[in-house]
Amino acid sequence: MIKLENIHKYYDSHHVLKGINLTVDKGEVVAVLGPSGSGKSTLLRCINFLEQPTSGIVEIGSKRVDVASAKKADIFALRTSTGMVFQQYNLFKNLTVLQNVMVGLTSVKQLKKPEAKTKSQDMLKKVGLSDKLSHYPAQLSGGQQQRVGIARALALDPEVLLFDEPTSSLDPELVDEVLATIRNVADTGKTMFIVTHELSFAREISDRVIFMEDGVIIEQGSAEQIFTRPQMERTRQFLGKAV
Ligand code: ADP
Ligand code: MG
Repeated sequence: MIKLENIHKYYDSHHVLKGINLTVDKGEVVAVLGPSGSGKSTLLRCINFLEQPTSGIVEIGSKRVDVASAKKADIFALRTSTGMVFQQYNLFKNLTVLQNVMVGLTSVKQLKKPEAKTKSQDMLKKVGLSDKLSHYPAQLSGGQQQRVGIARALALDPEVLLFDEPTSSLDPELVDEVLATIRNVADTGKTMFIVTHELSFAREISDRVIFMEDGVIIEQGSAEQIFTRPQMERTRQFLGKAV
């Protein structure tokens, strides 16, 4: 489903991703763990070309893009097969909840308005926000805003969903509703990458855990294996009491 081959990313001379190789099966849920600055966000952003990798190959489904010879159209096709949920929600403040979900459908997917509206309403129902369609983001709690972000990403029917610390901007009492929403999405068999600091959630939801440090995947395995028998001292330290 997803294949990353030898992905490198430099910001000027700063070598942030140092040869990432990874194959992910369809329907697999991958938790990405690691200390701050280890390159987790950069990795997600390179998968969907929000950041252009400096070199390497990204493959999603039948779309394969080698950075060295990538054409704009190939990158666009690859990007539209991904959906991203951001830490800071990134909703349009001047659009209603419904419009926030519709906008990608009418622009990126070029659906007609009535169709986009029906689909958006369905997605918002899935995340439990049917009663907030005409609210503006500022009128919602952080947890509700993030659920709009999830509905918006889901509406585009992406082959893979990327979550970058989806709960770390939330007040503690709002975290659970968002995790429950993500869990529901995982149960539908979506392929997902989740960068998170919620270790117990990562352990429960993921098929595979990747541990990154300093731009390298230093360890990966099943959630069970990483949380109960980590091989690397660094992973053990990071997981601390969770192990
Ligand atoms: P993480 O998400 O694991 O905390 P990041 O991927 O955000 O790590 O960052 C990895 C490294 O890349 C950090 O040293 C960070 O300062 C640097 N970095 C991230 N984004 C940029 C950018 N747009 N320009 C320059 N350096 C960046
Ligand atoms: Mg990050």
